[in-house]
Amino acid sequence: AKEPVRVLVTGAAGQIGYALVPMIARGVMLGADQPVILHMLDIPPAAEALNGVKMELVDAAFPLLKGVVATTDAVEACTGVNVAVMVGGFPRKEGMERKDVMSKNVSIYKAQASALEKHAAANCKVLVVANPANTNALILKEFAPSIPDKNISCLTRLDHNRALGQISERLNVQVSDVKNVIIWGNHSSSQYPDVNHATVKTPAGEKPVRELVANDEWLNGEFITTVQQRGAAIIKARKLSSALSAASSACDHIRDWVLGTPEGTWVSMGVYSDGSYNVPAGLIYSFPVTCKNGEWCIVQGLPIDEFSRKKMDATAEELSEEKALAYSCLS
Ligand code: NDP
Repeated sequence: AKEPVRVLVTGAAGQIGYALVPMIARGVMLGADQPVILHMLDIPPAAEALNGVKMELVDAAFPLLKGVVATTDAVEACTGVNVAVMVGGFPRKEGMERKDVMSKNVSIYKAQASALEKHAAANCKVLVVANPANTNALILKEFAPSIPDKNISCLTRLDHNRALGQISERLNVQVSDVKNVIIWGNHSSSQYPDVNHATVKTPAGEKPVRELVANDEWLNGEFITTVQQRGAAIIKARKLSSALSAASSACDHIRDWVLGTPEGTWVSMGVYSDGSYNVPAGLIYSFPVTCKNGEWCIVQGLPIDEFSRKKMDATAEELSEEKALAYSCLS
């Protein structure tokens, strides 16, 4: 039998956490033959709710779930973890300035970086979900210098999946037949969902999305804004932010990272820029990646047209500003 993998979820008593932990315990994240031990962290005001989640995990009698650690102590939570999904963060409340939210999150991610660096298992893979996700991941990276850059990422897979979903609805095809969209940049409304390299599996072979949709106005306009603003549309409809889709895409992100992407398919991940596609090095930026043997690799050599270039630069610009703001909160 396989050794259990320890998976940390921070902010585990929150709504994404509540959707995510049963998926992990069911094998959605790491596979149906991979036992797991869940480490759940939340803050003291949420301790009682967190304990309630732990009780439900016991009651669900998940065969793969070999143990549950539920704690408000970051060191206990981080000890020995192989995968860390960082969902906990300070939400932007009405009337709060961007700088105030940034300042709260910078201090949270600085502290959690140290706990992970000192206590996580070697080669722990980190996924940051809490917003501002790219910049929180960058802070975590900077304050955990012994964790390799390649082990720290942020979630843009939800945006990626939303783009697949929009194409599938528009063309009335199975979402599983659509592939290779790209989310470039920030997990914010400045992100650029790019369909220039996306294809659909049809009875007549693989066809470019641009050819099948045959409506550049929609692809360059409404499609992009729908994906960018989908989060707000869900809040409006549900009176709560997206949770099941965020949790599901976090599982997709880790699963593909650990188990690999299918041949000929790439996914979007927020990763540390090495300057590929002239994206400034030193930002956490969403790129198209393939994964193999537990490592991601940025897809190289895709042609970028002028329309895309502008949008990729604009979202990079926003990330540089966020980075500067985060650093100003540190000093
Ligand atoms: P959620 O579980 O709904 O969201 C958690 C985080 O994920 C938020 O930062 C949210 O950003 C972010 N997020 C990223 N992508 C998405 C997406 N597509 N849809 C929705 N959210 C997304 O928040 P809750 O308030 O229910 O839970 C947060 C938990 O974190 C609570 O249990 C709380 O106690 C804990 N917490 C931990 C802290 C710490 O570790 N020190 C500090 C504060 C809270 P956004 O805010 O932009 O929606």
